[in-house]
Formats: sequence, structure tokens, C-alpha cells
Amino acid sequence: MKQGCIFCNIAHGIMESVTLFENLEFRVILDKFPAAKGHVLILPKEHIEDIYELDAETAGKIFALATIVAKAMREVLACEGLNVLQNNGEVAGQTVHHFHLHLIPRFEQDHINISWPIQELSDDDLETIGQAISKQI
Ligand code: AMP
Ligand code: ZN
Repeated sequence: MKQGCIFCNIAHGIMESVTLFENLEFRVILDKFPAAKGHVLILPKEHIEDIYELDAETAGKIFALATIVAKAMREVLACEGLNVLQNNGEVAGQTVHHFHLHLIPRFEQDHINISWPIQELSDDDLETIGQAISKQI
């Protein structure tokens, strides 16, 4: 637990949240400033800052939990779609530096905008960047 971390405090039940589920490792809550009604966050209880600190086993458990929560959301909210989102670093929109997965229910005409301008990349550029990353995996 990291001193002063809001999601550590929420995950450990020190700060209030609308909790949908909790076990030894995770807490599932409603986002207090949601993109839509029923916007869910999945938090590990351990202070993990971002994807770079997340081990593969915990990542697997988080996503397994997300599949269950997503189906519950679809059932209750009757959402037509759902975005799974996870931000790393301020430039990517991370405002709370304790790893969390967003589950955002989506509806026609909900005015939520998760989009980007498409870049023009040559086949050569695709090949070069692809090979560079591939070598590191
Ligand atoms: P991110 O921008 O990916 O770091 O997301 C942080 C999320 O935490 C935002 O969607 C906020 O609305 C949400 N948030 C901030 N404070 C609280 C809180 N006290 N309880 C629940 N959600 C919160
Ligand atoms: Zn934390």
C-alpha cells in the first residue's frame, strides 16, 4: 500500500467507494466521475503503478475478472457495446497512478469519443517498426 494513493485507500476500504465485488486481490468499483452510468473500474489491491509493473499472472486474473464483470454490466445496463480501457502515463491520460482497468458501457449516440487520427505509414515504416518491437518481445 502506497501512502497517499487514492486507489490504495479505496482498494483497502479506507476510502469510500461503490464496490461491486471484492476478493483478496482486487476490488471492482463504480467510477465516481464516469463517462457513462455504470462505468466500472477494476483495481488490484497491491499498489501497481501501471502496465510495466504488472506481472503476467495478475494481468490474467484482472482480465478474467473483466470478462465476468462485462457480462454482468451487459445484463444489467443493456449496453450495446463496451470499451475496455487502461491508461499508462499522463500523456496517455492516466490521472491516477495505481493500475486500473476501465469498463465503459456504450450506447448509440452516447457522445463518448475514443478515437484517433489515422497516421499515413509506408509499408517500409510498418516493417521497420514491426521488426524492432518484435525483437524485444
Ligand atoms: P485514469 O484517467 O485512467 O487514470 O482514470 C482515473 C479514473 O478514476 C477516472 O475515470 C476518475 O473518474 C476515477 N476516479 C477518480 N477519483 C475517484 C474516486 N474517488 N472514486 C472512484 N473513481 C475515481
Ligand atoms: Zn496505490
